[in-house]
Amino acid sequence: MSRLDADTERLLVAIDAVVPADDFPSASQAGGLRFWSQVTASERPEWSDRAIAVLDLFDRQSGGRFADLDLAARQAVLDSLSNYPEYLWFAQLVNAGFYADPANGGNDDAVSWRMLGWSPAPAGGWPAEEVWVPDRRPIIRRDRVAAHYDAVVVGSGAGGGVAAWALAQAGRSVLLVERGDYPDTAYLARDHLRNARTDSGLDHRTLRSSAENPRTLLLGPDPVVLPAWDPRYGSNADTFGGGTRVYGAQAWRFMPEDFAMASTYGVPDGSALADWPIGYDDMEPFYTQAEYEIGVCGSAEPHAGSTRRSRPYPMAPMAPTKPARRLLAGARVIGLTTTPVPLAINSTPYDGRAACARCRQCVGFACPVEAKNGSDATVLARAAATGNLSVLLGTRAERIVTDATGRVTGVDLVGDIGGSRWRRMVGAYDVVVAAGAIESARLLLASGNEREPYGLGNAHDQVGRHLQGHLYGGAIGIFADAVNDLLGPGPAISTHDFRHGNDGLVGGGMIANEFVPTPVSTFGYLRQAGLIGPHGLAAKQGVRHLLPRMQRVVGPVQEVTSADNRVRLDPTVTDSLGIPVARLSGRLHPNDLAALQLLGERAADWLRASGATTAIAYGFPPGNVAPSSGQHQAGTCRMGTDPATSVTDPNGRVWGHPNLRVIDGSLHVTNGGVNPVLTIFANAFRIMHTWVGSGGGYL
Ligand SMILES: Cc1cc2nc3c(=O)[nH]c(=O)nc-3n(C[C@H](O)[C@H](O)[C@H](O)COP(=O)(O)OP(=O)(O)OC[C@H]3O[C@@H](n4cnc5c(N)ncnc54)[C@H](O)[C@@H]3O)c2cc1C
Ligand code: SF4
Repeated sequence: MSRLDADTERLLVAIDAVVPADDFPSASQAGGLRFWSQVTASERPEWSDRAIAVLDLFDRQSGGRFADLDLAARQAVLDSLSNYPEYLWFAQLVNAGFYADPANGGNDDAVSWRMLGWSPAPAGGWPAEEVWVPDRRPIIRRDRVAAHYDAVVVGSGAGGGVAAWALAQAGRSVLLVERGDYPDTAYLARDHLRNARTDSGLDHRTLRSSAENPRTLLLGPDPVVLPAWDPRYGSNADTFGGGTRVYGAQAWRFMPEDFAMASTYGVPDGSALADWPIGYDDMEPFYTQAEYEIGVCGSAEPHAGSTRRSRPYPMAPMAPTKPARRLLAGARVIGLTTTPVPLAINSTPYDGRAACARCRQCVGFACPVEAKNGSDATVLARAAATGNLSVLLGTRAERIVTDATGRVTGVDLVGDIGGSRWRRMVGAYDVVVAAGAIESARLLLASGNEREPYGLGNAHDQVGRHLQGHLYGGAIGIFADAVNDLLGPGPAISTHDFRHGNDGLVGGGMIANEFVPTPVSTFGYLRQAGLIGPHGLAAKQGVRHLLPRMQRVVGPVQEVTSADNRVRLDPTVTDSLGIPVARLSGRLHPNDLAALQLLGERAADWLRASGATTAIAYGFPPGNVAPSSGQHQAGTCRMGTDPATSVTDPNGRVWGHPNLRVIDGSLHVTNGGVNPVLTIFANAFRIMHTWVGSGGGYL
């Protein structure tokens, strides 16, 4: 029992001041005490003392006992603390408990969801949970790992999935090593506080825990240790399927200019902008292959961002939503061109799996009806069917092994077995590194030997540089009527008018309407925009009133990459297995902040033209200064034609190592002004076609 559990009288009064009762229950009536008890029991025990300090603050601010004040006086105390960070942390958590899923304890019987008319259930209801258990046939136990494979692939996300598929199809024996697990869909389809789209301060279900795998951030003289839930950590998802198990699945092609940014714009001061060693025409057949192999729905009608394509999308776009129709009308008023958002989601049954049931919690969650096309459900399922794939979960590649001549011969693996360490060197003719941009760089850096003491492929100090992701610009609009039908997944209309050709800017970005938010995300968005306060009836009723009237339009900024934004090995901090963690450093380029502002202003214009009575552009959160990375992380093992300025050749081969390839987002020289995953998939298909001739019948 925590100290906070012994202070329930004060806690109850405090949480009910934050979320008071009206026609709907207060925080405590909804189970808020249980929420605090659960979360401080073992997960965040330090929050017990932290919350007690806030309760003490309430008493001090009251000049006596907060509990002795009448309701109006309690609200006045909270108002007086509205700029006090520790109070805001407390109020945010009380609200998080109230609006999150019932299993968290603060939303008994889903009272807040009923208050909001919100339900996560897909059309037709939840399927029986037994059908949510993935096919685990290719998964092997550690004692079944062979001494040698034709290939070892590290990481099962977009790049690793395609690599494993193509190798297995080509008859090679493949060991796919994934440090994450393969949790059942139910585990990844319920929790609203521990998923990749909520900053609640709790570890995400798709990440290795903060204790297991921290990172550090060096901005000033001293590095800070980042837990995995910190937004600056740069997390994606560590699970079978990597980020694609829970992604939002926006599946865009880059434009020709995106492969030739330096030629198009020159190289801005303070940046290392460069062209890709390949162009759009090289990629086009593989974009098509990716759209068909993975399964993408979309419209091939021309628009400002459309590019030459050899085939239409394999599936028609999702039927439009109410906000999309409203935004289409607004776009016509101000002359924007638009297109539906292509998604790696089944708009119709495809590849033996169901069509999207249009539920309200897509991004950050696994799909309850398996309509989302991640690498786990597509290429990896097909690779498993060949019988040539073995998957080893919960195990990390610690180091790539080289022989005395410097040739790559295998991978050192490490994992935990009941608290003790399991280690094994597995031999391979070929090794593919596909661990995501931060961890792929970390692995190459950690694999130094006598010939290459600073890491494999790092003779020119290029590994880990050019870390980039996507800043997100956009705006929130409030409409007088219920504009949002909450029809999932949400993104349905976009404009590409600002991807290039913006006066005084290098690049730009696409903006689209956002995923249907969960109630807890809705609270966060409204708070971020200053549309509600942290507490009181006004906040509670504000969420209720605004949820159906709110629509966000947001999009990624094409970042101007810099050589100083980088991943290094931390010299002192190690993970739970004793491996040096990734140290991030760098800063944002002024061009990126200007592009962010542009996208915010244009999104607000679009919302106003569509009838929003209020439209507020998001600024960059103050204090959140760190190199960009996160879910769209890229660039740390740049492809190129010159070993002095790149890490791999145009086919992902690490310079000096013909049998070591990087095949993931790390290869991106620049990251486009759209979500990157289709380009990661397509580039992987291109590399694998060059390597093993895999065309999948689409070339
Ligand atoms: C919630 C969410 C929403 C997203 N939405 C979109 C979207 O709408 N559109 C889009 O384009 N992109 C989206 N993304 C991003 C997209 O998922 C990534 O761009 C993509 O998955 C990156 O692919 P990758 O191959 O580079 O690496 P990843 O998918 O990150 O895969 C890397 C894998 O390697 C594993 N790994 C790391 N280190 C090791 C090691 N040492 N040993 C063994 N295994 C290791 C990791 O656990 C991980 O599973 C989203 C991501 C998330 C999390
Ligand atoms: S694809 Fe997304 S919106 Fe559709 S049913 Fe699956 S999780 Fe829900």
